[in-house]
Amino acid sequence: MSLFRSLFRKYSKLPEEKIREIYANKDDEGNAISTGTQKKSSSAEEFLDFWIQKAVEMEASDVHFERFRAYVKIRYRIDGKLQTIKKLPINLHSGIVARVKILAKLKIDEKRVPQDGRFSLVNNDRKFDVRVSILPGYLGECIVLRLLRSDGENFSLQKLGARDKDVEKLTHLVSIQNGIIVVAGPTGSGKSTTLYSIIKQVSSSERKVITVEDPVEYQLSGINQVSVNETIGMTFARALRSMLRQAPNIILVGEIRDKETAEIAIRAALTGHLVFSTVHAKDTINAITRLLDLGVPAYLVAATLRGVLSQRLVRKLCSKCSKEGVFMPEFLKEIAPEFPIPEEAKIREPTGCMHCLNTGYKGRQAVMEILPISDTLQKLIDRKADEDEIRQQAKEEGLETLREIALQHYVSGEIGQEALLALLAEMY
Ligand SMILES: [Zn+2]
Repeated sequence: MSLFRSLFRKYSKLPEEKIREIYANKDDEGNAISTGTQKKSSSAEEFLDFWIQKAVEMEASDVHFERFRAYVKIRYRIDGKLQTIKKLPINLHSGIVARVKILAKLKIDEKRVPQDGRFSLVNNDRKFDVRVSILPGYLGECIVLRLLRSDGENFSLQKLGARDKDVEKLTHLVSIQNGIIVVAGPTGSGKSTTLYSIIKQVSSSERKVITVEDPVEYQLSGINQVSVNETIGMTFARALRSMLRQAPNIILVGEIRDKETAEIAIRAALTGHLVFSTVHAKDTINAITRLLDLGVPAYLVAATLRGVLSQRLVRKLCSKCSKEGVFMPEFLKEIAPEFPIPEEAKIREPTGCMHCLNTGYKGRQAVMEILPISDTLQKLIDRKADEDEIRQQAKEEGLETLREIALQHYVSGEIGQEALLALLAEMY
């Protein structure tokens, strides 16, 4: 990890702290803060609506209103990175909190305990489900609004940004009729988006699809979706048991995190269902051992597991301003000595323009490691072979690792050096 940190410092041309604070004020302490395009007499409601609308336009995934002593800081998360957008005068704080509470039907006078809620909004024909979280901070309540597209029109395997051959491989893998396919990756690796895209691909009017999620993030048309609610005893395992009585063909289990859920999911796969789920694991091979470590009998995993997918999201270079860079073979040799130095490499570098808010990056793409389970791998799983042995066999069968795929994306100019280093650092 520290090696990559130092490499990051050595090679990085665009350190994070240099990323300009978009729209942020020069006046840091909240005095005489201008209200930008807003007129002076704007109410707290108008402010809130304006900043949510702005977030939608800038494709932010969440909006943070943070209470500080002298101002309220607004930050947006765009492509996974928080960016300071504006500091508002403190006198707007109570009005904004009250407005959010009204929209989300929360208790306005309750200021001591956290509150969660939701509301919907429509912006330019795009529907959003807004998840509200209010946390009583020492100086006052802090608000986080998560903006979730509720029309789900964006889900497709082709739009994930993976290489064409990976999309093909994945399409082939998910075309099976029964068995279980798991997606591995840490929080924020885009697992849900990939699963929704897979579900969209495999669902049809002849096949009933039920999902159980914690919570339902996007509403998909034509799909039955159930939210887990642990506080009232609606666990993954319980929801899964009930949904099997509804005779589905395809099941999506948000996450396999305990033995009970794993066993029900695997038994469902054994009785003719097509099951998709996620596990918290660092790569495809690790996901297999995670399933075994949960205590599921190895013969059941071997009999049902059809494939494993592991993924990460990397920031894409802005298509409007990225420029040709200089290929440094010594850099590649230092970070990945095992990677063959290509004769020709098309390196690209970030610049920064209006389109990408001067960050040099716009959007994210998935890097995917796909492992179909062959007969030989099945036998290895059945006899609980260790990770190294399974990995060795998978490599012989042509498994391309996340690391190799990321390096290929880099030398073909699809991702920049920062994104590559950030990804490699995260994987160790
Ligand atoms: Zn740009």
